[in-house]
Amino acid sequence: MPRRGATKLSESTAYPKKNLLIAGALLLPLLLLLLPGEQATDEAAADVTQPAVAMVEQALPVIIESKAPEPQLEVIPVPEWQDTQVRNGDNLSLIFQRMGLNDGDVYKVVNSSKEAGKLTQIFPGQTMSFLFENGEFLALKHVKSPLESVVYQRDGGHFNVEKLIREPEVQRTFAGAEIKSSLFLAGQEAGLSHSTIMELANIFGGVIDFVLDPRVGDTFNVLYEDLYLDGEKFEDGNILAVAFTNQDKLYTAYRYVDSNNKVGYYNPEGVSMRKAFLRAPLDFTRVSSNFNMRRLHPVLKHTRPHRGTDYAAPTGTPVYAAGDGRVVEAGYTSANGNYVFIQHGQQYTTKYLHLNKRAVKTNQKVTQQQVIGWVGSTGLASGPHLHYEFLVNGVHRNPRTILQKLPQAKSLDKKEMPRFLEHTSPLGTQLASLSQQRLASNNSVSDSATL
Ligand SMILES: [Zn+2]
Repeated sequence: MPRRGATKLSESTAYPKKNLLIAGALLLPLLLLLLPGEQATDEAAADVTQPAVAMVEQALPVIIESKAPEPQLEVIPVPEWQDTQVRNGDNLSLIFQRMGLNDGDVYKVVNSSKEAGKLTQIFPGQTMSFLFENGEFLALKHVKSPLESVVYQRDGGHFNVEKLIREPEVQRTFAGAEIKSSLFLAGQEAGLSHSTIMELANIFGGVIDFVLDPRVGDTFNVLYEDLYLDGEKFEDGNILAVAFTNQDKLYTAYRYVDSNNKVGYYNPEGVSMRKAFLRAPLDFTRVSSNFNMRRLHPVLKHTRPHRGTDYAAPTGTPVYAAGDGRVVEAGYTSANGNYVFIQHGQQYTTKYLHLNKRAVKTNQKVTQQQVIGWVGSTGLASGPHLHYEFLVNGVHRNPRTILQKLPQAKSLDKKEMPRFLEHTSPLGTQLASLSQQRLASNNSVSDSATL
């Protein structure tokens, strides 16, 4: 309910600003009373022989001082950057044309050095800034991202190339909440961005089915990074440590970069969080938040023995490949509607029925969490839902229970463990202490809220 972390800082700075505003509001009518309208301008204030102004000078010397006349300076044109956005289908020739330049100018920049030749690598959404002085083209700045720009500066007949790299300020942030209706809503209330909530769900995607598993009272606590530039957040950083309590079972994951520079999430024992199969092969954020209602409501009726799991979800919800594999069938029948079958290694097959649309073709290789289609109600379906089947050696198994019997996920090498523990135990300590603080302050906040 209350937001944690960085939000507190901005609350405390709001008061001085408010005071300034009040002071300003009080001063303004006073000034208007003292200064006859036309004399409120710089030129009039300069005419100090007028008695009205002299009177004001006595009353408010500081303000008059700041309005002293300034010597008229000769107007010198200052070179200014002019921006243009790279659009779809753009090329350098079109971009230069928009700025009143021609192909000859493009040629001069691009061919002035091997380094400058890289200017041809432009992408939609990037900014190109041109510097002119008296109509003469002086420099070009290619803003690739908020962190990386390249400046091409004219030096006689050449263009010098300079790369500008900015380092974002990384701020550690903590958020946590108890789930009342869905992980997604609880995450939003705790101040997490959509992408951080998705990342959190992805980390646990092999152990928790975020459509069917969550219960009221489940909790999450997450330690993550926010990236700041010039004091403003510009991007979500990585989740460093996260704990999720689902039906009183605690799952913890740490981000770890191993000695071969491979990034992964591991439980405290060093077992990878990445499993062979996702627990729920669809975008859970699109599924109704009212999970209790949905569980009790017999949304779907089957006329034949049911051999899979049904996920009621809006038409258009992305459906993921549950694991790496190959599409063995993608087609349409009057019963299945649009369907996709995926083979995973020798033993496992997953089936996805009633899709609105398919995104893959027969024989195509797919990776875990790749979108293979979208939820629909094609074929014999009473409403939009994903019918999901899991087969082991050609025999239907309940995907809700079979996953525990699957081969164990990879563990870190024994030699890697001391390094892993050295990196992750401080994260565990920090996460635990912040989680405790959250519980404590939640109690006090709810107490004070009743006053
Ligand atoms: Zn079904």
